[in-house]
Amino acid sequence: MKNTIWFLKGIRNGRKTEKFPSTNPEEPPLWPSRLVGSGTPECPTRAFDGGKWNSGKCISCRLCLPDYQPTGDQSIHNIKGKVQKMLSRSFYLYPVDSGTCGACNTELLSILAPQFDASRLNIFFTNTPRHADALVLMGVYTQGMEQVIAKAYEAMPEPKLVISLGACAISGGIIGKEPLLARGSLIEISGCPPSPYTILEALVRAKEGKT
Ligand code: SF4
Ligand code: SF4
Repeated sequence: MKNTIWFLKGIRNGRKTEKFPSTNPEEPPLWPSRLVGSGTPECPTRAFDGGKWNSGKCISCRLCLPDYQPTGDQSIHNIKGKVQKMLSRSFYLYPVDSGTCGACNTELLSILAPQFDASRLNIFFTNTPRHADALVLMGVYTQGMEQVIAKAYEAMPEPKLVISLGACAISGGIIGKEPLLARGSLIEISGCPPSPYTILEALVRAKEGKT
């Protein structure tokens, strides 16, 4: 009886999964998103290199308002090279927390929620590096995790790649420096924390061999 009620509720509610990334995001957040403006306002992470906004350093503190304004554009990622074609059929992620506040972890996991349903795009998580295609690094460098991260990467089969997720992993954010392995990452996903839209778009583009 209980199952029937849930089944009928499901029918009544209809499909909740967004069509993104084949359509635009239904409700893109303003923070984080691409900032546009001019000048070099005060920024705690020096995210304005030569007057140009660097998304990998931005922690969305909003201190640069009103000189710089958020646009809602979620395409704040950097794919530095081609991902092997064989990973386009299935892409297994192994997340590692090097030293986070917890928010990057939450946003990454939310790509599995019904709203985004990453598995329909052949993106999955694995709980062992031996089955992983990509090591997803989150958080700043911490000495205690240095060996753990190195061993996890060593255990991964070829071809393998590293993804830096969030300002801490890309640039150290406001706290410290980035994890050592993140310096060689192929994909950088900006945001503090990145939105699920940014994460999904970056993963799908990389899987499709786009830069
Ligand atoms: S919102 Fe980003 S770019 Fe603006 S001041 Fe804060 S960290 Fe710097
Ligand atoms: S990038 Fe921001 S949200 Fe992610 S771990 Fe660092 S402080 Fe937390």
